[in-house]
This record gives sequence, structure tokens and C-alpha cells, in this order.
Amino acid sequence: MTFRLYPNKQILWSLRYHRKLHKDLYNCAVYNRFTQYQKFNRSVSYFEQQNSLPAFKEVWTEYKEINSQALQATLKRVDFAFERWFKGLGKRPRFKSIRHYSGWTYPAKSGYSVESNGENGYLNLSKIGRIQMRGKAKYWGITTTCTIVYHNGKWYASITVDVLDQVLQTEILPTGAIGIDLGCKSALSITDGENHQQIQAPKFLRNAEQLIKKASKNKRRKQAPNRKKKIKASRRYKKAQSKVSKITRKVANQRQNWVHQVAADIVSGNSFVATENLQVIKMTSKAKKGKRKKQKAGLNKSILDVGFGMLRSTIKYKVEQIGGVFVEVPTKKVKPSQTCPKCGHQHKKTLDIRVHNCAVCGYSQDRDIAAAQVMLYWAKGTLPESGTGFAVAESPSSTTSTSKCKQADRCGN
Ligand SMILES: [Zn+2]
Repeated sequence: MTFRLYPNKQILWSLRYHRKLHKDLYNCAVYNRFTQYQKFNRSVSYFEQQNSLPAFKEVWTEYKEINSQALQATLKRVDFAFERWFKGLGKRPRFKSIRHYSGWTYPAKSGYSVESNGENGYLNLSKIGRIQMRGKAKYWGITTTCTIVYHNGKWYASITVDVLDQVLQTEILPTGAIGIDLGCKSALSITDGENHQQIQAPKFLRNAEQLIKKASKNKRRKQAPNRKKKIKASRRYKKAQSKVSKITRKVANQRQNWVHQVAADIVSGNSFVATENLQVIKMTSKAKKGKRKKQKAGLNKSILDVGFGMLRSTIKYKVEQIGGVFVEVPTKKVKPSQTCPKCGHQHKKTLDIRVHNCAVCGYSQDRDIAAAQVMLYWAKGTLPESGTGFAVAESPSSTTSTSKCKQADRCGN
């Protein structure tokens, strides 16, 4: 849960100072790893760096003031960056300027304390002071970690809490069992077999792509900074930039709120949830040509798809947290959207067919609800076996792909 911090002038100075020290430590650790490798052909591990912290503090005495677990967490960030690089997931770690250094983390319970019941309150940071914070947490419990973040001229505290004990104490395991189909037409199609419900992604989230695109386009028209040519960003560029990040931040917040609300609603009545193993491709809309395609795919991924991914993992987390069962249905094997929930007959449907009409038993249902039913029944072991086997619909491949494209495009909007 993220709270906005309202530091006074003196504390603001102190926060900046701490951020700078963490940034310098980060750069030192990166430098240490590179030079050791270049000069002596040896790689430095996280533990080696952690163990040299006391000696480091003897030389750079200003670090004695800083919480040692927070220093370790900064070294851990370096370790993560290198690990990602080695695995080919990230770029070569770089030295960070203060502008691109976000903050630091208290990975356990020392170095800070929180005075809050989940809504507003105060954050005490050792050697820094007491800071007013505003924000509201959906769930609250014992604080476990605290990360101080500086972003766009504002300070935040991202606090994680352990709610496990409270949930187990106050709630009896809900008895509901449901299947969920995550898709683009309706964000969620939920069924318990008899009763169905479809939930849409909030309009703001659906329109977010357009809003961000518009704001970014506006930004591109302004004078961008270029270090090599020594061009500074124009005032209008900065203004446009802050508009883009404002929308992005708003989208991220809304997405998180929505995800938590939906997941909480689901878990409040159900402890058995069956859903598909996520296929991102199903939800990503496709742009048609070259460069834009990649851009658009990236953008979509960051909004709705991330939402779906988060939704799924949040539901999983919450269900398992209360001691329920979360079943991942192997979609490739079960084929939920192509199977009749009543008789198990399989018949291939193209994406533009929105209603399931069974040719064998005559069962008719919304496509996504039917898919959710199939997943629920499969997870429970009550899905009827089909004797007829898998029938492939005959449709020329060209028409199939265009209809898919159209469908996907509509979903993105
Ligand atoms: Zn049927």
C-alpha cells in the first residue's frame, strides 16, 4: 500500500541526503563488481558485498547513521540488477544519477515505525524524523517492509503488511466454488454453474491507452532534451512530460484498486476458484503494421494485460491465503472455449462467435460463461467426457485471421 508523504523542509533535506547516500552505495557496488571482473576476472557475490559493509562504514562514516538492513537492501538491488542481466532479462547495470534513483527499502521491521490504522497517519524513520502520510489501505495488519520512493518531485512510502493472521482469525472459509474466464469482451465471466456474472474493466482503464497515447503524442511535438547536442528540455516538454506521468500514475492506481476490489469480492464468497493458465495473447490487441505494432503491443501490455495478470495473481494469492483452492486449468488440454459444459462435446469456435450453441445437446450459453463453466466442472472433476472427439470447424484461414484481428482490436478499445 502506497502512502504519499508530506515532509517538512528539514525532513525533506534529510530524505534527499539519505537517497543520495543510497545512490552512492548503489553505484559503488556496481563499480566494485565491474572492476573486480575486469581486473581480476572474478565475480563478486551479494554476500561478499554485504560482508564488506562494516569496513566500508569505517571509511565512509556517514553511512554509520543509516539503517544497516536498508543498506543491505540497496546491495540486494544491485544483486538483482546483475542477476537480471545474467539471465538476459535486463540490460547491463548502469551507474545511476540521483535523478534516476528512486529510493531505498527497509526490508524488515527495523529503521521505521508506522502510526496508522491503514488510513493516513505518520511514518517515523530513524535518523530522519516523523512524517505525515496520507492514503488508505484496503487491508491492514502488521507492517513487514517499507520502501521510500521519490517520484516526480513527490515522496511516497510503500508499506507492505501481513494480514494473514487477521484473516484466519476473523473469517470462516467461504463455501462457494466458481470458474472464471478472463477475456477481453467481458473482463471476467464468473459462474458457480447456475448463477453467472460478468464484470467489465472500468471505463477509465479501457480508455487509458487512448489517453496516454494522446498525451505522449503531444509530448513528442515539444522540444525534447538531447544531451549530446546540449539541448535542454523546453518548458512545454516538461509540462507535457508531467502530464504523461500523471495519467500513467492514475492508471496504475486505478488498476490496482480495481484488481483488489474484484479479487476481494470473489474471495469473500468463494474458496474454490478455477481459471485458465494465462494466455496473454488472447487479450492483447494487434496493431497491423511494423513499428507501431511493437509500440502498441507494449502499451497494451502495460495496461489491460497487466491488469488481467495482476487480477489472476491477486485472486490466487487471496484464495490461497484464506486456505482455499486455486486451480489452474490447462487450457491447451481442456479447451474451455471449445467444449460444451453440459455434454463435453468439442466444437471449434472462432473468436467472433460469442454464443456457445451445442450441436449435440442443444445447450446455449454466452461463450465466456460456458468457458468458465467448463473450467469449474473440469476442476471439480464433473466435466462430462465427450465420445464424439474434437471436431474442427471448416473455415478458410484468411477469414479466420481477419475476424480475429477485428475482434482483438475491439477488445483493445
Ligand atoms: Zn452439449
